[in-house]
Amino acid sequence: MANGQWLIAKKIMSVLAVYNVEHASSLVYYGLHSMQHRGQEGCGMVSVDCNGTMHRHRGYGLVAEVFNEDNLAKLEGKMCLGHLLYTTAKGRSIDNIEPLSFMHNTGSFAVAHNGNIVNDGEIRAQLEGKGALFHSNTNAELLAHLIKKEADEPRIFTIMEALDKLEGSFAFIIMTQNRLYACRDKYGLRPLAIGKLGDGYVVSSETCAFDVMGAEFVRDVAPGEVITIDHNGIRSRNYALKPSCNMCSMEYIYFARPDSDIDGCNVHAFRKESGRRLWHEAPAEADIVVGVPDSSLSAAMGYAEESGIPYEMGLIKNKYIGRTFIQPSQALREKGVKMKLSAIRSIVDGKRIALIDDSIVRGTTSKRIVSLLRQAGAKEVHIRIVSPTMTHPCCYGVDTTTLDDLLLARMSIEEAKDYIGADSLAFLSYEECLASSCGKCEKLCFACFNGEYPTPLFHEIKDTNK
Ligand code: AMP
Ligand code: SF4
Repeated sequence: MANGQWLIAKKIMSVLAVYNVEHASSLVYYGLHSMQHRGQEGCGMVSVDCNGTMHRHRGYGLVAEVFNEDNLAKLEGKMCLGHLLYTTAKGRSIDNIEPLSFMHNTGSFAVAHNGNIVNDGEIRAQLEGKGALFHSNTNAELLAHLIKKEADEPRIFTIMEALDKLEGSFAFIIMTQNRLYACRDKYGLRPLAIGKLGDGYVVSSETCAFDVMGAEFVRDVAPGEVITIDHNGIRSRNYALKPSCNMCSMEYIYFARPDSDIDGCNVHAFRKESGRRLWHEAPAEADIVVGVPDSSLSAAMGYAEESGIPYEMGLIKNKYIGRTFIQPSQALREKGVKMKLSAIRSIVDGKRIALIDDSIVRGTTSKRIVSLLRQAGAKEVHIRIVSPTMTHPCCYGVDTTTLDDLLLARMSIEEAKDYIGADSLAFLSYEECLASSCGKCEKLCFACFNGEYPTPLFHEIKDTNK
């Protein structure tokens, strides 16, 4: 692998749609708000009114900043598609905020996407060679062009054919004037679930949205499956010959909300179990167990429960700051860590601490936290990470970093321990991480930890993070 060619996909995002529900746009507003952790840069919605007319509103900012009563009222109708965007500074253009909507002589439609297509450069070049003109650099627009290149065939078959051409990760929702299509990649990398709401349906990246919307979970969309939702109810088709399950392990480790279930496994339960297993793999002689808020608290509970070492709240988080990674430059990210966390002196002073965190990417967070804890009087800090060492970039839609910036790609565990300033440092193995799903997941993607990418890779992927 040549370093410079590797990128790093730009986004972890979220898609959400409702079919046949009153106040559709308000419900999508609540659902998107519950998934704000998946994308904080921008958001958008497209609705379909009773005449089949599509209405769109989108913008940069959080859900509560972009939407208000006035613009939600204009998003009329009982069908609505929403999207949350997470992107790096380079992709900042209003044209990239989804859902995208398209007008066509066979009917209008809208598309939203979560994930990253790794052969998009090739497909885009082929389409451009045939005269396609792109307005954005989104994968949603790519799919729209692919679907409509042979518009006289029955729609589901052109959708299936288009999906099968795509390599990489995706959860797509396509909304026509009277139908939703929920599509998941054949590798099962990104989550997508179906819920029931009264006489209608909800499709969402995370099941936590169902609870706030009052919907009941029905099932996950399977890898390689397209689910059609319309006045006939729901129907399923498989577009891929050999689908496989490679759910992104980082969804469980870090991204998803603890109250979400992914492919039948609850995220909090997974994290707690991984904490238990980490204790057996890497016990620490400590007086208290402290988790890094918020994503590592479940794992810290498991570590404490299994070890019998008291769980303590040694760190608190300022709730009014977003995730550290939200700022695209390293200088801003470092400032973000300082604003985000504080150590509680009365708890950590004079103590040996087992500090549980979900992952180490650049090492900025761990280094800063060790120094915070030491300033507050901690005697020893033993870092225990509830995932393997991250040594490779992700090309499936998770903004990790470039290969050069990954701490454990540059350093041994011993060197990383010294760089971070910890007394000891240990990681969970793949086997134990996978076993944390308690038999619910046969396989997970661990490519950013071991370089075993489940899809073919394409060399035109460039390092767009620089
Ligand atoms: P770092 O300071 O670069 O080592 O960041 C590590 C922390 O960032 C972890 O403790 C996670 O909580 C969080 N994290 C891990 N992966 C990501 C990601 N792809 N995007 C945003 N935050 C992440
Ligand atoms: Fe998830 Fe890592 Fe696989 Fe990317 S490479 S999909 S972050 S497990």
